[in-house]
Amino acid sequence: MTANDVTRQTEGDEPRPAGEITWQDGNVPFSPHFGDIYFNPKDGLAETRYVFLEGNNLPSAWQDRESFAIGETGFGTGLNFLAAWQCWDSDPKRSRRLHFVSVEKYPLSRDDMIRAHQSWPELSQYSKQLAEIWPHETMLPGVHRFSLADGDVSLTLLIGDAIECWSGYDGNIDCWFLDGFAPARNPDMWHPDLFAALAGASNPRGASLATFTAARIARDGLESAGFAISKRKGFGYKRDMITATLPVSIGDNGSTPDLFEIADDPWFNLPRPKKTKSVAVIGGGLAGSACADALNARGVAVTLFEKADELASAASGNPIGMLEPYLTVDDAIMGRFYEAGYRFSHRKIKKLADQGLVEADFCGVIDLATSDRKRERLDGLIARLGDKPDLVEALDSDQASERFGLALPYGGVFYPSAGWVNPPSVVRAFSDGIDMRLSTTITAIGDDEQGKVLTDGNGASYGPFDAVIIAGALETQMLDQTSWLRDHLNPVRGQISFLPEEIVSNLGDGSAIKCVLSHKGYVTPARDGMHVFGATFGRDDAHTDLREDDHAFNINQLGKVLPDVAAKLSPEMLEGRASLRTTTADHLPLIGLAPDFDAYLASYGDIDKGKKGARYIDAPYHKDVYICTGFGARGLIGAPLAAEILASEICDMPLPLEKALMHAIHPARFIIRGLKRRQLTA
Ligand SMILES: Cc1cc2nc3c(=O)[nH]c(=O)nc-3n(C[C@H](O)[C@H](O)[C@H](O)COP(=O)(O)OP(=O)(O)OC[C@H]3O[C@@H](n4cnc5c(N)ncnc54)[C@H](O)[C@@H]3O)c2cc1C
Repeated sequence: MTANDVTRQTEGDEPRPAGEITWQDGNVPFSPHFGDIYFNPKDGLAETRYVFLEGNNLPSAWQDRESFAIGETGFGTGLNFLAAWQCWDSDPKRSRRLHFVSVEKYPLSRDDMIRAHQSWPELSQYSKQLAEIWPHETMLPGVHRFSLADGDVSLTLLIGDAIECWSGYDGNIDCWFLDGFAPARNPDMWHPDLFAALAGASNPRGASLATFTAARIARDGLESAGFAISKRKGFGYKRDMITATLPVSIGDNGSTPDLFEIADDPWFNLPRPKKTKSVAVIGGGLAGSACADALNARGVAVTLFEKADELASAASGNPIGMLEPYLTVDDAIMGRFYEAGYRFSHRKIKKLADQGLVEADFCGVIDLATSDRKRERLDGLIARLGDKPDLVEALDSDQASERFGLALPYGGVFYPSAGWVNPPSVVRAFSDGIDMRLSTTITAIGDDEQGKVLTDGNGASYGPFDAVIIAGALETQMLDQTSWLRDHLNPVRGQISFLPEEIVSNLGDGSAIKCVLSHKGYVTPARDGMHVFGATFGRDDAHTDLREDDHAFNINQLGKVLPDVAAKLSPEMLEGRASLRTTTADHLPLIGLAPDFDAYLASYGDIDKGKKGARYIDAPYHKDVYICTGFGARGLIGAPLAAEILASEICDMPLPLEKALMHAIHPARFIIRGLKRRQLTA
């Protein structure tokens, strides 16, 4: 938002909710809480160009760069983003990619944003595209990643408080648009901690900054965070504004650290990659195909290796999977990861489904309160999220029955945006146009002087590649670099059963299942004449034979919520499918560079003694070898975000997750935990 120093009176005496807006001069949003308008109605666009673009030496600063990252405080209506995008787009010397990372505590609704954009017809080509990707539903706190201009422009929105968000995120930002409501109106934001956070999230090779104000609070704060500031004539009637630069940072060894500094401790930090042109992906399931798609979209040449003679032949081969949000009562790490994963997957899969490329039905999912504990959890969820029927709606048993189509014994919650997906169609859509090697089992990853060379079971070799991603589910542990994972990846066998549609429709009243029901198991609407229900959870069972006992288990489970349907079923009449979930002890996937296990033990063998992290060397990885596995029962909502994370790491762009979540999914976490708990020794 182009905040400004124009003094406006707060409407009325009562404090107003911070996210509320009213309208002035037609299409200019006004915040009664902050008593300020979002942009200067007369020449807001000219002000943005003068203050933020010229103030940061744009377009020159991004010219001839591979990628360029702009960071911002206060996304508001998106005016600065649109102006930067337009300027970048019309510059023939522009960087190959533009990344815009902004924070916003109170995101505008889609309708309000569209209305505000009417003030700038000359940006309409860009504002239309922004409106297209802007969520219809409430944006929850956390990181939201959007892709625009065929992937050449990324928009990463950190929803939440500016200081908290920027302290918890490393964007390697090249230039800053320090925007927001004026210091006098929003002093909380213009705090020394914010300036320190911006310095911390800057590119270690140096960054620039511009802001519309010359207020002392900004000058002092920026200076104490290490920025060198200059004053410049302000826009229009304003006397001054500030521009600033952050010098190149020099590490302990006298050189510039080339890291994504996602942690204070070195064992989780990531080296920034050199230019990557080719990547081998091992595994043709949801994880591997999502990685192939994310890299392909960034212009990387991908070769996908799959040992079976077709894609989606293992866990990703079930005919139906639930695309269900994983919302938690508290702010637990796992919930935050899968919450981010759901919104990312949902957007991506919905777009493919709208294009007819993926088979899916966004019919909604009912999550049933099958026990007092579950009831409590769902009540807590509604209490945490407040009244957001676009995200989740509480249902009593009558309402649940009405939505579902058959009588249900309990109430629960309804997720209106959720539904079911045919995973093989997702895998096919993701791997469309990708160079593929089917019936090829990769048995080794080696190096030659030009990169990574893969060997298959017949001794044939492939490559060189600049990088490799191992997305082989449980079999990720079969390769040398990742063999230590055998202690951390566990199979959980799952059998689903198929229920002929006529059994439901013959119940007597012409009933039909209208949405997905998630109870202790799940049952879906019919696809090709079959409902899917299940599933079993066979821990440490790595066999995929079809079993009558497992059908019996599924029937029994179904009988607890749909006894009339279950009564018509017997195990021997059912078809089904069994495959393996790949799980981890902390229920989070493993996403990132492959740690060199022995080198980790040798380098960090004494961290249990509580020595300060700064004394240790940077994390030792198997160079350019990445892991993407461990999605348990949530591959549909985990794998696309995982692929976005890896593609961001590999292509050196801002990450789509905050630092705490990057630690939580880091493959080395098990080694570090083992060392700290003295379960591992050097
Ligand atoms: C019964 C059941 C129900 C489920 N329901 C849901 C659901 O409703 N919603 C949801 O989100 N998730 C669900 N899941 C989980 C989801 O299916 C998985 O998380 C997801 O499919 C995992 O994808 P993946 O690519 O990691 O693994 P996989 O699909 O198993 O793919 C791994 C691939 O790697 C290949 N491979 C391995 N090693 C090599 C090698 N060395 N060389 C070449 N190829 C190799 C394998 O052949 C395999 O094709 C369910 C899982 C099960 C078992």
